Amino acid sequence: MKIFNTLTRRKDDFVPLEEGKVKMYVCGPTVYNFIHIGNARPMIVFDTVRRYFEYKGYDVNYVSNFTDVDDKIINKAIEEGVSAQEISQRYIAECKKDMAGMNVRPATTHPLATEEIGGMIEMISDLIEKGYAYEKNGTVYFRTRRFKEYGKLSHKNLDDLRSGGRSLLVTGEDEKEDPLDFVLWKPKKEGEPAWESPWCDGRPGWHIECSVMSRKYLGEQIDIHAGGEDLVFPHHENEIAQSEAANGKEFAKYWMHNAFLNIDNHKMSKSLGNFRTVREISEQYDLQILRFFMLSAHYRSPLNFSADLMEASKNGLERIVNAVEHLKHLAGAAKTEKMTEEEKTAFAKTDEYVKAFEDAMDDDFNTADAVASVFDLVKYTNTTAEGESSREYLQSLADRLVKLSDVLGLIVDRKEEILDADIEKLIEERQAARKAKDFARADAIRDELLEKGIVLKDTREGVQWKKI
Ligand code: AMP
Ligand code: ZN
Repeated sequence: MKIFNTLTRRKDDFVPLEEGKVKMYVCGPTVYNFIHIGNARPMIVFDTVRRYFEYKGYDVNYVSNFTDVDDKIINKAIEEGVSAQEISQRYIAECKKDMAGMNVRPATTHPLATEEIGGMIEMISDLIEKGYAYEKNGTVYFRTRRFKEYGKLSHKNLDDLRSGGRSLLVTGEDEKEDPLDFVLWKPKKEGEPAWESPWCDGRPGWHIECSVMSRKYLGEQIDIHAGGEDLVFPHHENEIAQSEAANGKEFAKYWMHNAFLNIDNHKMSKSLGNFRTVREISEQYDLQILRFFMLSAHYRSPLNFSADLMEASKNGLERIVNAVEHLKHLAGAAKTEKMTEEEKTAFAKTDEYVKAFEDAMDDDFNTADAVASVFDLVKYTNTTAEGESSREYLQSLADRLVKLSDVLGLIVDRKEEILDADIEKLIEERQAARKAKDFARADAIRDELLEKGIVLKDTREGVQWKKI
């Protein structure tokens, strides 16, 4: 299996740190609004990466944070006259609904930055002790030049950065030892959320969050660290500097970055007014279509969102759904049960499509080609399945289509599959019932989900569920 690694700039063979296991960290959204369809791209792409690893038999520990302390959250809170926590909690809940709609599975852990401040203070103190960080008037900076490999991910040279530099800098540069140094901890301003620290009441810089949460939930070394391409520099470069300086070992082996989603051939931005949230799209389309659309391109290619492409995606997804429906309809009316010898040979031919699918996914998760092999399988089933076919043959073809689609997170067998959005709704209802001490109702919901093959686990981070 090959993965394009931003660190090496080539497709590297995937060799896990621990056999049969994948430790993966994906930088999550800053929660100050509904997520937009650009944010949805890494969610869908890396959920698909996770699903494919699982299909290949790996046990995947998938961690994705919510950045719930940030200037944008604070500004929104001031605007609405509510607490920053109220804003972040509201949009985390909304984001989870959108994820469910897109069939993006909840991460193994979704840590919140505000719940990990202690760990951040610890890592910053350690960096100061090791000489990689220093404090000036309550602000703590990372001593960038002290980390000799700085620039290895973004392939930037320190001196170029310096000369091109000032615009890259955050406020407070005057007191820095070097313009390249970045903030690990900053003093609070009036009305901002703040935490006590050895340096001042304040809050962490953005980069330190991910270094700390990744180490806590996955360990000092991980297999894959991922996010959108805008995060390569400075966010991921800084994460590497912090983690490797603190831990004394390579942080992540593979760095994956998705290209950007544009809209009508323009960069999507608030100022251009061409900004679309996932929620808006869901009013017009089933979010499965958005997922299909995202996967119809390679994740490292820029992708343009347009009504035409969404219509094409709608038709594409429908072709698979219709094929499965047709097979099931025929299977329901089949006159014979078992596959004939001829059918066995015909079914064995579909191995070819499965192999093409796997080859595409093994080649740096080429979902565009993987979708093409699902279409080839659709074409094959449409030409070989007929009224005279055995139930076993028809069912086996349908199972194959459903299985490959499921690796892509596409639900093509709606009748039997309970939608993630419905699961989330039932979980919310169960939580409400528990709060109201209606334990009978809460248990009934748990049983109802179990019947549909969904098991619930109550954890400190909330309720998690999985399909069995
Ligand atoms: P943010 O909330 O801005 O930190 O973004 C969360 C994730 O969405 C990051 O991985 C970003 O790189 C990614 N992202 C933001 N905008 C886009 C876009 N237009 N296309 C693709 N990915 C994006
Ligand atoms: Zn991050």
